[in-house]
Amino acid sequence: MSTCAAKKPQIGVLALQGAFIEHEDMLKRLGADCHEIRERADLDAPMDGLVLPGGESTTQKKLLADLGLYDELHRRIAAGLPVLATCAGLILLAKDATQDACPYPGFATLPVRVRRNAYGRQLGSFVTTHALKGLGPIPMTFIRAPYIEKAAPDVDVLATVDDHIVAVKYHHQIGLAFHPELGKDTRIHEAFLKMTAKN
Ligand code: GLN
Repeated sequence: MSTCAAKKPQIGVLALQGAFIEHEDMLKRLGADCHEIRERADLDAPMDGLVLPGGESTTQKKLLADLGLYDELHRRIAAGLPVLATCAGLILLAKDATQDACPYPGFATLPVRVRRNAYGRQLGSFVTTHALKGLGPIPMTFIRAPYIEKAAPDVDVLATVDDHIVAVKYHHQIGLAFHPELGKDTRIHEAFLKMTAKN
């Protein structure tokens, strides 16, 4: 008699810069395997989902281009690879951005317009608890965060704070202005892993 162990989700975590370790720790605790994406060879590993972490979106965009990662990751996201993007990662996914003079392209697969550093650069960090559609109240840590100024009609708005959109889902892409990986609440990462299982 053979036992059939459930396959662990294989999650690629963009690890060029920023808060990627915290995502890995949380996903591993939830039973996923994570591998860091730093160079093209890292894209050969099986990947059921991708995390785009917070950090500095201009630096991340430049490194994606310089390291030759941009085209293949863009192709896979556009083709339906599930993505969890937080803060700078949300800026990478957004089709449009205000207050962003970065000369390097983002993936532009999520039809929203984000405002970079929307809460100010230095003093714009805060923690709050707000409802997220389907999950209820969620602690949200904002660090020099963007918010979403405008979302296309077919984008599912998951959360707003002070009338600004801070969480969306669009098909296989989840975009968050805040950092769920910095708290103890794992429900967003659990929802993301469920998405990767359906893929
Ligand atoms: N302010 C950063 C940017 O514009 C994002 C901050 C973050 O990811 N915590 O890229």
